[in-house]
Amino acid sequence: MPKPTMPMIKINLAKIAHNAEKLFQLYDTKGIGLMGVTKGVCGEAAIANVLVDKGFTHLADSKIQNIKKMSDAHVQAQFVLLTTPALSEIESVIRYADISMNSELTVLKKLSTTAKKHNTVHNIILMVEMGDLREGILPKDLHTFVREVMNLSGIKIVGLAANFACFGGVKPTEQNLTSLSSLAIDIETTFDLSLSYVSGGNSANYSWFMETKNTERINNLRLGESIYLGRETVHQEQIPGLFTDAFTFVAEVIESKIKPSVPYGEIHLDAFGNHPHFEEKGPIRRTILGCGKQDVLVSGLTPLLNLDIIGSSSNHIILDAKDIHLKVGNKVAFSLDYGALLSAMTSPYVYKHYTQANSKRKSFSHVAVHKHTGSA
Ligand SMILES: *Cc1c(COP(=O)(O)O)cnc(C)c1O
Repeated sequence: MPKPTMPMIKINLAKIAHNAEKLFQLYDTKGIGLMGVTKGVCGEAAIANVLVDKGFTHLADSKIQNIKKMSDAHVQAQFVLLTTPALSEIESVIRYADISMNSELTVLKKLSTTAKKHNTVHNIILMVEMGDLREGILPKDLHTFVREVMNLSGIKIVGLAANFACFGGVKPTEQNLTSLSSLAIDIETTFDLSLSYVSGGNSANYSWFMETKNTERINNLRLGESIYLGRETVHQEQIPGLFTDAFTFVAEVIESKIKPSVPYGEIHLDAFGNHPHFEEKGPIRRTILGCGKQDVLVSGLTPLLNLDIIGSSSNHIILDAKDIHLKVGNKVAFSLDYGALLSAMTSPYVYKHYTQANSKRKSFSHVAVHKHTGSA
């Protein structure tokens, strides 16, 4: 069977390259180095290579499988595992990741013995809890923790990191970043350590970065969404000069008919166990696309044309096409939020279509002459 090309995610490598380069330059103005986070694009080598081309020496991912994928594709970077490894994956972590983020002694002990077994030294960044309540060592426990880790051979502490606006939605501010900075200085002096990375967060740190007069000991951020979608994540605002439309989701119309706006018959539960509610608008132009929840996080899609998404099933997206006369076979384009990007890049059913893949430099100058106006 020929490989289906619909639904499709269109990936504009020149726009990603532009965003990566601009962010790299911007953060460098205050001495902040960047790790390019690849989980949102599932460790796709074509995209990883664009980041490496634009100066990223470190690529970070939360899945060891994505790191292996990039390593197997000979992407030339240091690979960072963005989360504490599971005990069950330590062998792969030692093998494929240069650095991992950590917050549990049990895991560090196993990393230590496994690294020694492989005659290698594994670098670790300790995650510190600064309020967002994902992984992290509580600041009050940090001294004892570091002391124990320093007794383990085969692993080496190379940094400290905090995560914000991820699980708990805690905003990175001058106050909590100054605390992280002080913790780093304290650890360096107490233990006579030199930390290569004091990593203060992610795409949510943009406003802090723009406003701060002094980044102090913070010298690193880990960026995903800003590179791919051109925005910071606290207010979901576009970063000036970046493209927000490097990715476009495209699906195909499989039915288009004028039908009632409200289902008729005895209403019970839908396919997902919900009680659906519909607004009576009279007959509407109901248009069905041949993809659904199994392909993409539908709630993260925004149509580029003036259409409404009424709902979705596992394999359908139902649109109210309003004044637009869509026909069977027409293609409908959407912008994606981070959740939709993550799901579409991960789905084996979504065809990955790269544009301007083989003319990076040329297409970059092409991008530069078009002033960006933002996406829908
Ligand atoms: C996903 C992730 C990031 C990147 O976040 P963005 O909002 O995409 O920039 C950074 N750090 C950690 C620990 C992550 O899990």
